[in-house]
Amino acid sequence: MTTLNGKTAKIRVAIIGSGPSGFYAADQLLKQREPEIFVDMYERLPTPFGLVRGGVAPDHAKIKSVTKLYSRIASHERFSFFGNVEFGTEISRFDLSEHYHGILYAVGAQTDRKLGIAGEDMLNSYAATEFVGWYNGHPDYRAYDFDLSGIKRVAVIGVGNVAMDVARILARTPQELYGTDIADYALDALRKSDVEEIYVLGRRGPAQAAFTNPEIKELGEMADADIIVDCEDASLDELSATHLKEARDRSAIRNVKILQSYVDRGITGKSRRIIMRFLVSPSEIIGNGKVEAMKIVKNELVLDENGNLRPRATDQFEVFPVDMIFRSVGYRGVPLRDVPFYDRWGTIPNDRGRVLTKHEGKERLKGNYVVGWIKRGPSGIIGTNKPDAIESTNCFLDDLAAGDVLQPSDTRCDSVLEMVRMRKPAFISFDEWKILDEIELRRGIDCGRSRVKFTRVEEMLEALGKTPALAGAGK
Ligand code: NAP
Repeated sequence: MTTLNGKTAKIRVAIIGSGPSGFYAADQLLKQREPEIFVDMYERLPTPFGLVRGGVAPDHAKIKSVTKLYSRIASHERFSFFGNVEFGTEISRFDLSEHYHGILYAVGAQTDRKLGIAGEDMLNSYAATEFVGWYNGHPDYRAYDFDLSGIKRVAVIGVGNVAMDVARILARTPQELYGTDIADYALDALRKSDVEEIYVLGRRGPAQAAFTNPEIKELGEMADADIIVDCEDASLDELSATHLKEARDRSAIRNVKILQSYVDRGITGKSRRIIMRFLVSPSEIIGNGKVEAMKIVKNELVLDENGNLRPRATDQFEVFPVDMIFRSVGYRGVPLRDVPFYDRWGTIPNDRGRVLTKHEGKERLKGNYVVGWIKRGPSGIIGTNKPDAIESTNCFLDDLAAGDVLQPSDTRCDSVLEMVRMRKPAFISFDEWKILDEIELRRGIDCGRSRVKFTRVEEMLEALGKTPALAGAGK
């Protein structure tokens, strides 16, 4: 037991990752009256908020405003933020076990899934996640060079909400993007864009699309881009029609209605066109080291043994010219050092949030918990993380009550601080993040934008007066 500003720190939990699932979990733990729990959040980047900062599209400011809630959670006197500290390299699970009763992994899914087709690694073939990180000014992706000048046709593979984001950002005018917090360099590159056609390709039919109603509706409301949906693409095959009726899936029914409403619109003369195609899969990317065309195969839907409609390739192929490709077929978790990982799903094996030593195993990694995409896979919207966090933190609280958690040797705030300082002298506290936040907002006001982001870690450290020597020490 230890003291912080005169208070007794009985229980201490480390949360790894500062996205929505981490903050909802922190909130649950901080709300406990008895015992009082101290929460320390570790984040690899100097900035908090995970995908809300680095993933949510810049033109979705309302969704991003959830950070106000997270900042309120962070202002709790029993909450600490240690940004710019990487779990696994700069701080280990064993370091944390010395100081915490529980460790909760909330690291999300940091990479993308691949298509597994020929030509996928060619120049101008990208993961949507790379483009998303780039336009959002994520330090890991800022060095990408998305040169859109001379690019006329782009294909986006997949029909989830990330595909919607990518298609929308490519179709927006510079004027629409200017007021957002999109990275400065991305705004410049998009200003020079020659993109005219954006193909969005779904491997199944319109009734199985993964996008949600507001996102597909928004694609029909673009200032200078038409949405084109062919009658054949918007119509349902017999299996889908029956399935939709039986399942009473309101979101899917509405998606189909919205798509069908686009059929009669045709081209209205806007500068860009978003063309939705369904029941097609890319089978090969063609080019001489650089994307030139894509071969797609027409699919039909068949029922699998679980009653799900799956795509099956026919013998009908089509080749169409395309200059750039974004695969948007889902995110994927990456393993953390000394933490179990189930490679097939890209998740940490767990039972309702309790980390297991292996997938479908029985043995627990005592005192270790997981929440968010790294727990359940990359699905759901931001709010989905709230019940998920309740489930995981309840597991910790039950284990705590049963005395079945880690037994740290030193939970004093001072010793935690000393450990972090030793491992990463240039760690960033939440107050320091607030200084960066202020600077970004002020730079935005100066030029009529909502925010001008820092996109380099070194710039952030410099703005806080942290010297490079300090930044590198302790690694
Ligand atoms: P997602 O929703 O899982 O969609 C992935 C898409 O890729 C699906 O259409 C899927 O088709 C398709 N796909 C998968 N493998 C494929 C393959 N081999 N070939 C062709 N297509 C393939 O993933 P996401 O778009 O990355 O989004 C991740 C999560 O973030 C989702 O829950 C999403 O709703 C959420 N998100 C929300 C917002 C928002 O609320 N505005 C914005 C962005 C992301 P099948 O269905 O046939 O597998």
